[in-house]
Amino acid sequence: MLAGPTAVGKGTVAADIRRRYEQIWLSVSVTTRPARPGEENGVHYFFVDEAEFDELAATGQLLEWAVVHGRHRYGTPRAAVEQVLAEGRPALLEIDLQGARQVRQNMPDAFFVFLKPPSLDELVRRLVGRGTEDSEERARRLRTAEVEMAAESEFDVSIVNEDVRQATDELVSWMGLTPTNPVDSHR
Ligand code: 5GP
Repeated sequence: MLAGPTAVGKGTVAADIRRRYEQIWLSVSVTTRPARPGEENGVHYFFVDEAEFDELAATGQLLEWAVVHGRHRYGTPRAAVEQVLAEGRPALLEIDLQGARQVRQNMPDAFFVFLKPPSLDELVRRLVGRGTEDSEERARRLRTAEVEMAAESEFDVSIVNEDVRQATDELVSWMGLTPTNPVDSHR
């Protein structure tokens, strides 16, 4: 289970896992947020409307869900996670802090990894640099990030996301897998 403040690069680490570690199953969340350019339904998220999300939550089909940044809802489809775990395959959930706390209640054996930025200043820089959100949305996300940074001690381990490939490999090691050689393969 990978969590951490907004814009720390959880999504980038997840994308690197998807690209380099096919053996790791990545949970695909449902969200009421509209798709960004380049995002594919069923790959990055399942994009649903409010009524569909209500139905999933009400019928117990979500392992956890949360309103993130005070705006859109995000949740983890329960059945897929349970099936993958039953098969004994390594599974990764990339979710926000509120979701992580719910997973801790429901799945106490899960391993919790906190991805953190080299510094709060760097986090702010990444937050502004992404450029996909308007200024009001960025301010909202920054407030969330400050609160989330304070939650590090709730996690089993922390990984500093200085370099994405290095962070990914550290995560993979914690999952009990052997990291591939990330640097050489790109030279
Ligand atoms: P974004 O809109 O940038 O894709 O994601 C915003 C935040 O939602 C990220 O911090 C991400 O970790 C979180 N998130 C994505 N999927 C889930 C989920 O299934 N459950 C929860 N609780 N948070 C999620």
